[in-house]
Amino acid sequence: MTEKQLLDEKRFADIDYNLSVVRERVAQAARLSGRSPEDIQIMAVTKTVAPEYINHAIAGGMTLIGENKVQEYLSKKPDLLPHTAHLIGHLQTNKVRQIVGEVEMIESVDSVHLAREIGKRAEAIGKKMKILAEINVGGEESKTGIPWEAAEETVAEIASIGSIEVCGLMAIPPFCEKSDDSRAFFSKMMQMFVDIRSKNIDNTNIKVLSMGMSSDYYEAVLEGSNLVRVGTSIFGGRNYR
Ligand SMILES: *Cc1c(COP(=O)(O)O)cnc(C)c1O
Repeated sequence: MTEKQLLDEKRFADIDYNLSVVRERVAQAARLSGRSPEDIQIMAVTKTVAPEYINHAIAGGMTLIGENKVQEYLSKKPDLLPHTAHLIGHLQTNKVRQIVGEVEMIESVDSVHLAREIGKRAEAIGKKMKILAEINVGGEESKTGIPWEAAEETVAEIASIGSIEVCGLMAIPPFCEKSDDSRAFFSKMMQMFVDIRSKNIDNTNIKVLSMGMSSDYYEAVLEGSNLVRVGTSIFGGRNYR
């Protein structure tokens, strides 16, 4: 075997092991929160990861993947095994054209303006685009997302746009040293999710609550998340070069 093959064997084995750990912890948190493991979707976040490793994860059952950048996803897509993709990174309106129709869902919709552009494009190609409203739950200025205070009215406004289906909420809470602090943000999001779902707003089908990453997916599931987005804990540290 060449050195590259040996390194790949090692990396594939690491991915297999990591997947088993993530699945086990998600299952445990699901049961502790009164749900069954199948109720929680695990997304493999594949930014910076090369197609051969992504394909290894897909072959291992991780058919839902998440990418942050339009260009990166579109360039890898032809090399990937059959999968379902969500866009999870900030989307600029000038990239909307390229991505609508290429992914199953856009999780990072953070303004009515962006939603309108998505709706226009979806209509032009005769599709309905599933989206999540990204909420800035921590009120951090540095982060994208709809301000907490405006969440409900913004979701209602987005829902009124044609060719869009609002499927739920997404959040990236501030990084917390203590897991109890993370849980407070997740719990707040869960409350918002339940509130918005109970309003039965026209054109919404609120069922996804996307929250939890490598450092906190366990806590997120304990508090009600049903979609966790895990990168590092599956593929290892990222190399952005
Ligand atoms: C990178 C990223 C993740 C995954 O982060 P990890 O800490 O590597 O698990 C999840 N969600 C979003 C929006 C991301 O950009």
